[in-house]
Amino acid sequence: MDIDNPSKPKDEVAEGKLLVVILVGAPGSGKSTFCEHVMRSSTRPWVRICQDTIGNGKAGNKTQCLSSAARALKDGKSVFIDRCNLDREQRSEFVKLGGPQIDVHAVVLDLPARLCISRSVKRTGHEGNLQGGKAAAVVNRMLQKKELPKISEGFNRIMFCQNENDVQSAISTYSTLGPLDNLPDGCFGQKNPDAKIQVGIMKFLKKVDVPVNVASRENSIRESVSPQIVEKKNSCCREEEEEACSSIPVNAGFESKEAKDLDGTPHDAPTLAFPSISTSDFQFNHEKAADIIVETVEEFTNKIGNARLVLVDLTHGSKILSLVRAKAAQKNIDSQKFFTHVGDITHLYSKGGLHCNVIANAANWRLKPGGGGVNAAIFSEAGVTHVIHVLGPNMNPQRANCLNNDYNEGCKILREAYTSLFDGFASIVWTGAEQSKGSSEDIGSKALELCQSNGCTRKHSSNSDQKIKRDGIHASERSKRCKGPQDDFGANSTNSRAGKLSPENRNIDGSMSKAWGSWAQALHRIAIHPERHEDDVLEISEDVVVLNDLYPKAQRHLLVLARTEGLDSLANVRKEHLQLLKKMHAVGLLWAEKFLRADGSLVFRLGYHSVPSMRQLHLHVISQDFDSKHSKNKKHWNSFNTGFFRDSVDVIDEVTNHGKATLKDDDRLLNMELRCHRCRSAHPNIPRLKSHITICQAPFPAVLLENGRLVHAPQ
Ligand code: AMP
Repeated sequence: MDIDNPSKPKDEVAEGKLLVVILVGAPGSGKSTFCEHVMRSSTRPWVRICQDTIGNGKAGNKTQCLSSAARALKDGKSVFIDRCNLDREQRSEFVKLGGPQIDVHAVVLDLPARLCISRSVKRTGHEGNLQGGKAAAVVNRMLQKKELPKISEGFNRIMFCQNENDVQSAISTYSTLGPLDNLPDGCFGQKNPDAKIQVGIMKFLKKVDVPVNVASRENSIRESVSPQIVEKKNSCCREEEEEACSSIPVNAGFESKEAKDLDGTPHDAPTLAFPSISTSDFQFNHEKAADIIVETVEEFTNKIGNARLVLVDLTHGSKILSLVRAKAAQKNIDSQKFFTHVGDITHLYSKGGLHCNVIANAANWRLKPGGGGVNAAIFSEAGVTHVIHVLGPNMNPQRANCLNNDYNEGCKILREAYTSLFDGFASIVWTGAEQSKGSSEDIGSKALELCQSNGCTRKHSSNSDQKIKRDGIHASERSKRCKGPQDDFGANSTNSRAGKLSPENRNIDGSMSKAWGSWAQALHRIAIHPERHEDDVLEISEDVVVLNDLYPKAQRHLLVLARTEGLDSLANVRKEHLQLLKKMHAVGLLWAEKFLRADGSLVFRLGYHSVPSMRQLHLHVISQDFDSKHSKNKKHWNSFNTGFFRDSVDVIDEVTNHGKATLKDDDRLLNMELRCHRCRSAHPNIPRLKSHITICQAPFPAVLLENGRLVHAPQ
C-alpha cells in the first residue's frame, strides 16, 4: 500500500484501506475499553493513540498524537484515536490524516452522561488521572461542549452508539474487520437528538458519590477530598480535559460527598473555619481584635464569590464571638458568607455538623508543620483538605516576643494575619478550581508556606507528600511570600518582628529583598555552586551558568544564570551590571545559534521576567514554538508573551541609558486574555491557543522584528 502517494487514482487503490478511527466520547464513555476489545480479537494491525500516555507513558498533546498516528499509518497500521474528540475543532486535524487509501471513521460513544460521570468518578488508576471528585465536574463541562460528528467534517463513516448494545455491536464490527476488509461509508446507528448535556447534572453528581459513614471516614477523606490534591500532584489531564477544567467554577474543587452540613443545610461552598487569633493565649484586646476580624472579613467577602468564612469558638459565652457578631451585623455582612459557630474546631463536622474544607489553627511561635495534635485531629475530620497555621501578635508577657502593649504594631500584625489567612484560603480555593489548567511544576516541597511578617501563616495540605505548584504564581504568591527566611518559621517571625533580616536576604545594593521560598532558591543554589549540579548544567563560566529550564515552555528553553551573589532579579540590576548583562546575552545568543544550526525553523527570544518566580537573575532563551506540556495557564503564556517579558536587548539599552531596567510589574499583564504571539488573535483557553499556534504562520509582530529581539537562523 502506497500511502505516500495519495494522488494515486481510486481504482488503483488496493482493497483494505487503512483506517483512522476517531473515538468520540466523554471520559468514562468506554473509549479505551472499546479499543482494547477490538485489538484483542482483530486480525488487522491496530495502534491505539492515547493522549494520556503518549508522552513516554505520561500525558502528551494533540501534536504528539498526530505525529504518532501518521507514523503508524506509514507503517501500514490502522489507528484508534483514543481521546475525547468531542468537538469539531478537536477532531479536525485527525480527520486530515485521511486520504485515498485511508478512511476516517468516527465511533461515537454517546452514552448517558450519568454513566460516564459515574464511571469516571469511581475509576481508579486512570491513565490520565481523571478520576475521583474532580472528574464529575470535568466530564460535565466537557459534555456541554459536545458536538456530534458529521460526514461533512470529512468522515467516511460514523457509527453512533447510545447504549451498551450499540457499543458491543460496534466492537464486533471492528473486531471482525480483517486487513483487507472495508466498511461501507455513511452514518450508522441512532443519533441522540439531545446532544447537549442536561443542565443541572451537577445535582446528580452528589448521588454518584459513595456516602460517607464513620467506618469509611478515612477513605472518604482520601476519596472525596484528596482527589484535588492528587490531581494537583499529577496535574491531570489531557488538554481537552484541561479545557474543561479551565471553566470549572471556583468551588468545583470542593465538590464533595457531603455538600451539606449535618443539619441538612446544603452548600457546595468552600469553607474556612478559623478561631480568633491572639485573643486567647496572646491576650490581644478583644474589642480591637473584633474590629479587625470584621473589617478583614468584610474585605474578603466582597472579593470572593460564594466561599464561606466561619469564626469558631469553644464556648457560647465567648466575648470575641459576640463582639464580632454584633459588629458584623452592624456592617450588614452577608450571613451566608460569614457566620460564627460554637464548637470544637478539631471536630467541626463530626461533632458540630459543619462542613469545612480549610481550617485555621492559631499557632504559637513554635509553629511546626505536620505532626499530630490539633493538626492530626483536624485532618481526621471529613472534608478538611488544608490547615493554615496562623501566628498572630503576642501581648502576653509570659510568652515569647511580647509586643509590650504596642497596639499600633499589634493591630497591624493582626490585620496582616487575617488578610494573609484569607488570601491563603482564597489561593487554595482558586487552586482547587485552577489546578488542571494551572501550572503544575512540582517542586517536591511538602507544603506551600506562606508567611507575612509577624502575621505569619503557614498552610499545608492534608496529604503530607503533596507536591505543590511552584510556577505560575507570580502575582498571587508574590503578595504572600514571607519577608523573612522561611527555613525556620519561628525564627522568621522573631527576626522580622525585631526588624532584623538575615544577610541572605540582603540585595547586592544593600536593600532588603523579598524572601524566596526554598523552592525558589534552586537557581540561586545552582549559580553559586554549579559544580554541585554538574549533571544539570550545560555550561559554567566565571560569570554565568547555563542550564535547561526544568519545565521548558517551548521546544528549546534555556536559562542563563548570573553568578553574582545578591543579584536576585532584574529589579536589582544597575549600570555596574551592564557587562554581565551583555555577557549573558552573548552566551544566550550562542546557544540559540547552536540550536538553530540543528533546526533552522526555530526562532528564539531572549529576555527576563519583570518579576521572576525564582531567585537569581536569569535570562530566558526560549524558542517561539511554545510547544510544551509545561505551558499550562495564562500566567505561563503571558509571562513570555506580554510586556512582562523584557527583551534582553531592551534591558541592555535601558540600563545603558537610564541605569536600570524598566519592569512591567503589573498583574494585569499576566492575567490578560490569551493572544497568539504571531497574529495576535485571541483565544479562550490554552488548549485552543495551543492548537492555533501549531498552525499559525503569520509573521511576528513588527515590534519583535526590530532591534534583534527575535533570533532566526541566517537566511
Ligand atoms: P522566572 O519566572 O523568570 O523566575 O522563571 C523561572 C524558570 O525556572 C521557570 O521557567 C521554571 O520552569 C524554571 N525552573 C524552576 N526550577 C528550576 C530548576 N530547579 N532548574 C531549572 N529550571 C527551573
